[in-house]
Amino acid sequence: MINIINESQTPVIAETVSVDPVSKVVCPAIAPNGKLEIPKAAQPVKIDKRYVFALVLVHCLALLAVIPWFYSLTGLLVGIAGIFLFAMMGINIGYHRLLTHRGFTCPKWLEHTLAILGICTLQDSPARWVAIHRLHHKDSDEQPDPHSPLVSAYWGHIGWLFVRNRDFHKVKNFECYVRDLLRDPFYLKLERNSLWLGIYVLHALLFLVAGYAIGWFTTGTLDGSLQMGLSLLVWGVFVRTVFVLHSTWAVNSVSHLWGYRNYKTTDNSRNNWLVTLISHGEGWHNNHHAEQMSASHGHLWYEFDLSWWVIRSFECVGLAKKVVRPRCWKTPRKSQGNQTESIA
Ligand SMILES: [Zn+2]
Ligand SMILES: [Zn+2]
Repeated sequence: MINIINESQTPVIAETVSVDPVSKVVCPAIAPNGKLEIPKAAQPVKIDKRYVFALVLVHCLALLAVIPWFYSLTGLLVGIAGIFLFAMMGINIGYHRLLTHRGFTCPKWLEHTLAILGICTLQDSPARWVAIHRLHHKDSDEQPDPHSPLVSAYWGHIGWLFVRNRDFHKVKNFECYVRDLLRDPFYLKLERNSLWLGIYVLHALLFLVAGYAIGWFTTGTLDGSLQMGLSLLVWGVFVRTVFVLHSTWAVNSVSHLWGYRNYKTTDNSRNNWLVTLISHGEGWHNNHHAEQMSASHGHLWYEFDLSWWVIRSFECVGLAKKVVRPRCWKTPRKSQGNQTESIA
């Protein structure tokens, strides 16, 4: 049956974590009262001050955008371009479809570049992001899913980040989920002394300097240079970071609450077009939970997935190999057997 997630297609998870596909079928995804408890590893609730500080700070800095002095068309366009570069390339294609699920392979230089782009979204180091996401797939909408919205929509969206979760507080706690990644010294180095956070700060400074240079060339004044530098910092970094944070979090929250289902998965995942629109394809989340390794999250003809088309372009020029496609693309509908009953 298609509603059993094919663990044989997720070798990375299967080799490091004990997954019992039978129990995933027997366990109800939703408790009788429709609610889940906060994960045991996050109890008793202890506030993670570092995350609270960082996330409140970046939201406050993004609010500077309401002051007209910080606005420029260049800043706005750089911010929009950054959503595609850092969110789609870094998070969707890099962190998620490549590093977490190994939906394709690519040269190391490209993999590391995508990982660096992902870091520039302030969504944690590659290893920690991947570990949390693999944990989410292992027991989606059940214990110990770190961010199921069946606890509450607030918890699934942002609340889980404010609370210390022992399952991934330290590298030694979550390394069993990401042994494959940590074998690469590149990812191990990023964990040491929070190097990844330094990279985020450095990229923000680069935007400031680049904006200052653009302002100098276009206005020739110190005031103009400063205004353009800070405009790129506020719109190109802080506003873009907050937008991307919420679009990624919406995949965790909205796409596990509202939308349609193509597959009878054992979790509450949904396909949500609005989330797809702001996250470039990640909103086809029910499809993704049904076939985690597939590099395309859109399965039906109308489920447009921009991130997939970028991967497809990589494949066309020889940069992506072993690209995993949805099973329904390979199997004629007539002979799909049980699969047909799960596709709406
Ligand atoms: Zn999910
Ligand atoms: Zn995933």
